[in-house]
Amino acid sequence: MLRRTKIVTTLGPATDNAESLEALFKAGANVVRMNFSHGEPEDHIKRAKIVRQVAKKLGLNIAIMGDLQGPKIRIARYKNKNVTVEKGQAYAFDADLDRDAGDETQVGIDYRELPNECEVGDILLLDDGRLEFEITAINGMRIDTTVIVGGDLSNNKGINKKGGGLSAPALTEKDKRDIITAAEMEVDYLAVSFPRSADDINQARSLAKEAGLNAGIVAKIERAETVNDPEILDSIIKASSAVMVARGDLGVEIGDAELIGVQKRIIQRARALDRAVITATQMMESMITNAIPTRAEVFDVANAVLDGTDAVMLSAETAMGAHPIKVVEAVSRVCIGAEKEPSNKISGHRAEIQWDNIDDAVALATMYAANHLNGIKAIVCLTESGHTPLIMSRIRSGIPIFALTRLTSTYRRMALYRGVEAIEFDPTVLARHDVNRLAVAEVCKRMDLKSDDLVLLTKGDHMGKLGGTNAIKFLRVGKIV
Ligand code: PGA
Ligand code: MN
Repeated sequence: MLRRTKIVTTLGPATDNAESLEALFKAGANVVRMNFSHGEPEDHIKRAKIVRQVAKKLGLNIAIMGDLQGPKIRIARYKNKNVTVEKGQAYAFDADLDRDAGDETQVGIDYRELPNECEVGDILLLDDGRLEFEITAINGMRIDTTVIVGGDLSNNKGINKKGGGLSAPALTEKDKRDIITAAEMEVDYLAVSFPRSADDINQARSLAKEAGLNAGIVAKIERAETVNDPEILDSIIKASSAVMVARGDLGVEIGDAELIGVQKRIIQRARALDRAVITATQMMESMITNAIPTRAEVFDVANAVLDGTDAVMLSAETAMGAHPIKVVEAVSRVCIGAEKEPSNKISGHRAEIQWDNIDDAVALATMYAANHLNGIKAIVCLTESGHTPLIMSRIRSGIPIFALTRLTSTYRRMALYRGVEAIEFDPTVLARHDVNRLAVAEVCKRMDLKSDDLVLLTKGDHMGKLGGTNAIKFLRVGKIV
């Protein structure tokens, strides 16, 4: 059975070679995320090349997402990679400390404004809130604290201020340099961290364009300010190609208790506004060390599937965990299980909405027919931009959507869309009367279709043109003329 929900896997030391990538892709990864918070540009470029090579060798569709660090405040590095800090001890964050000089008593920070934007008594949360430090003094570039909740700390872990409100702009100088690297990697998606508004997303898009990169821009929703105001949230979603429920930082800023409701709201708004959505962070966190997930993690992944997410994301689980392949297998299994729940397949079909373009009308009419006519086995969609399958996949359904395109960029971008299987197929080089039959033949290679099975096919009269979808055909396998 085809899995509808997509899996984003973060690459890192645990998956940093061709063999691991091959195993990861075979296990079911659809998108790989390369995190610009770690690593050097040359390494990212090299890694992207290997990803493309392995995907090609396996004949699998793998999209690359470059994730900009953004104004995420991070500690610098440790002399000996990691340290353990104990409750009650003193610890300092020092912007003047050498970048590699961290130890048991102090560590560097990159964001030089941090000492100015904090006060004595503020709580600093490290590593997605796992560790807590209370500020006891600020002297110049040095912040002295007492450890409230201790634990292990390693290189480049994130720092948040409880309650949010740090004022750093979304795109840093480093991000601007990384956009150039992302262009060289030809990433399919570019994720913007801590956007405050649609402007931040638009700025990222124009910088990408300037660098020659035409990627889908992903807004990571991770600031309290952007989920507290529905208008800001909607405007960020509309400005983006996809959004990420970035539960790590978001949860730290708004507190964990409200996160579940906010996740459901972001997913619902993204789908309603025709955007893809990724649910991220700590989805199977215990599998960083354990070989099986906890029941709670299984339920968390399953819940995101029921919420309608396009994709679930793995972070440290695949970047530096002990079981990067097993965790993808576990997520895949749980997604398929959750997708069987009938509520995933029942749609309200936007009955009250007026359409303003023909493509959307065709896409939504197709989904209505597919969900309501008995016996439809598959949807076959000939597409240039990927817009029609995106709209189709905003509607809940159990019927697979095969999206055939001649454009590599469209092919890869569709790797993120729930329920969509992308296929490389160029109708412009075929005789007109062969197109339907050959398109359905491609689908037959990927699922078990029998003679006489009914499929729905959408296309435009002028293939090879953007936005021209204007027809739905009801076809019977084996009888296509
Ligand atoms: P990060 O983003 O992993 O880059 O911090 C995701 C999140 O905050 O949840
Ligand atoms: Mn984050």
